[in-house]
Parts: sequence; structure tokens; C-alpha cells
Amino acid sequence: MSEKSVNTSIIIPAELLPKDGRFGSGPSKIRPQAIEALAASGKSYLGTSHRQKSVKSVVHELRAGLSALFSLPDGYEVVLGNGGTTYFWDTAVFSLIEAKSQHLSFGEFSAKFAASAKLAPFIADPEVIKSEPGSHPEAVADPSVDLYALTHNETSTGVAMDIRRPAGASGIVAVDATSAAGGMFVDAEEFDCYYFAPQKGFSSDGGLWIALMSPLAIERARAISGSGRYIPPALDLTISIDNSLLDQTYNTPALATIFLMANQVEWMLENGGLSFSAGRSAASSSVVYDWADASKFASPYVSDPKMRSAVVTTVDFVEEIDAKVIAATLRANGIVDTEPYRKLGRNQLRIATFPSIDTEDVEKLVRCIDYVVESV
Ligand SMILES: *Cc1c(COP(=O)(O)O)cnc(C)c1O
Repeated sequence: MSEKSVNTSIIIPAELLPKDGRFGSGPSKIRPQAIEALAASGKSYLGTSHRQKSVKSVVHELRAGLSALFSLPDGYEVVLGNGGTTYFWDTAVFSLIEAKSQHLSFGEFSAKFAASAKLAPFIADPEVIKSEPGSHPEAVADPSVDLYALTHNETSTGVAMDIRRPAGASGIVAVDATSAAGGMFVDAEEFDCYYFAPQKGFSSDGGLWIALMSPLAIERARAISGSGRYIPPALDLTISIDNSLLDQTYNTPALATIFLMANQVEWMLENGGLSFSAGRSAASSSVVYDWADASKFASPYVSDPKMRSAVVTTVDFVEEIDAKVIAATLRANGIVDTEPYRKLGRNQLRIATFPSIDTEDVEKLVRCIDYVVESV
């Protein structure tokens, strides 16, 4: 089992292999049924105008579906635009932060939004609260803060946090839910803006952002837009809000992305909604954590069970076993994207357990890891 003696020519017996070998944390597994439905749409959808009914009805279906999935209270709106989550951070800097934001920074993604806010000359430097990698900090109410930036699941480390309004806080609560959305429970009363992209739990492609916005967040965007601040139109949330209310985007979106995402939301709703989809992720992630807890050579990276993610699991390996070799061996056998987040730099595997991923396939995956470790 020494690093030197391993080889990646191990052939995992076919009966041990999962049916679908995609365990990446984004882009992630897309259900084959969704791709078939897209192909079956033939000439009636792809290649047609996004300003006409055939596309607008799918956008409408997506917006209504998300509203139902998250049981959005009256007045909340589903807003969407191009550019993915990274683009939404800059949109939020221009359109949602009035004077000062507070960021919980506990990994690559949460740090990036804070960095974006720091660059903006028209707002104060943000408050950034950090914690050790593998854990998350808590927000602290501060009267000078008008936006609290939380992250439901930090995809780089597999740390998740419950979404709650910080006690005593008066600002709006904006949550990066890019990997958590659809796979983890959330109460819409606890946020003003819950934003994500389609290439993770929603099993579609990247390049789009979606924000579930409360009346307070919409009001905030309108007030800032009317305040005289220079906002590039593509980053002006009020333009996106107005287009979304018409089931459109400001500029041309990727129609396939919208179709696949709408199909995924429909699948979640048909099977029981968020309790179904979050339930699947909870069951699948438990398979990984229970296996790692019982393993002689693996252990969950996140030590506090309450902070362990239900959608992105991270597992450390003992020094004698090179996780890179395991990931490469799995890859050679058709099981892909179990490598850890590259900048975390740990001897680790990262295994996504998004709603689309079958729990039986996760059970098979951990058996495959055992097989590889025994064989090297
Ligand atoms: C993937 C991810 C992002 C980046 O999403 P893009 O759509 O690629 O910009 C941001 N935040 C979190 C938590 C993510 O998982």
C-alpha cells in the first residue's frame, strides 16, 4: 500500500461498479432521462427564439417549479440571468449591498464573494469572519451591516451550515446555495436572496444564475438602482427582475441549460419535492460518512457531524494511502471526478451526493474504494 508500489491498472470487477460513474461536485451528473427529453423536444425548442412562447413557457415552468419546490412565501420572486454564480456575486456587489456587507468565509467560494465586495470603491470594506478549513464561522449582528453573506454549502471543503437569520440583525440575508440548493432543506423565511447555478444539484449545465428573492431584497435592488450609483446594465438586478417577471432573461440564455434544469425541478416535484430530493442526498451522504467512520484508512474530513455536507462529502485518507492514486484508478474504471478541490491540498477524495446520484451507486462506490485499496 505504499505510494511507490501502487498501480492504476487495477480492473474493478463489473458487478462492483456503480450504474453511473459520475460523482463530480460540478458540473455533476445529469439524469439520462433529462437528456433524452431534451433530444425528444426536436425542432420545437432548441434553435427557437427566447422571446416566444415555446421558450418562455419553459422559463415559466422553471420559475413556478422553483417557487413550489422552495415553498416561497407570497411576494418572493424567482429571478434569473446569465453568468452563473460568480457573475451573481458582482451583481450583488452592485445591486444588493447598500454600504457594507459581512461575509462568512470558510473556503474558496465564500472567500471569492468577500474579495469581490472588497474591490468595489463605492461601498465600505466588508467584514470578513473566517474559520479553520473544515468548519464554518457564525454571523454576528452589526448595525452597520446591510447584507449578510452566508454559504449554505462550501463546495471546496464539504462544510454545510444551517441557514438562519443572524440573531438581532436587520440587514438582508444573501445565501450562496450553488451546491446546496435542491439537496438540502432551507426555510425561505430565513433568507432574502438564495442564489445558485444549475450545474450542481439541479443537474444541468453552467452559465446561468437563479436567485430566490424576498420582497425586501427586491426593494433593496430597486432602491440602489434609483440611488444614482453607476451600475452596468448587465449587473443591474432590477433589469433581471423585470425580465424574469416576463419569463425572459435580459440577454440570450443557453436554452438547453434551462430545459434540463426545468426537467430536474419537475422530477423533484413529482417525487415529493424538497423532502424527497434532500432526503436522497441525506441518505447518500450517510453512506459515505458511515463507511469512512468505520474504515481503518479513511475518515470524514469535517470532524463536527453537524457541519458535514449532505451534498458534497470529503474523506481524508491515512498517509500510507495516496488518494490521488485511488481517484486515478477509479477514473480508469469509469468512476470520475472524485478528486478533492485542488487548492485544499489534502490527501482526500471528494464525492458528490447530489439528488440525481443514486444511493445504491454511492454504496457501490465505497465498495469500489475498498477494493482498490485492498488491491494496490
Ligand atoms: C460552484 C460554486 C460556485 C461557482 O459557480 P459558477 O456558476 O461556476 O460561478 C460558487 N459558489 C459555490 C458554493 C459553488 O459550489
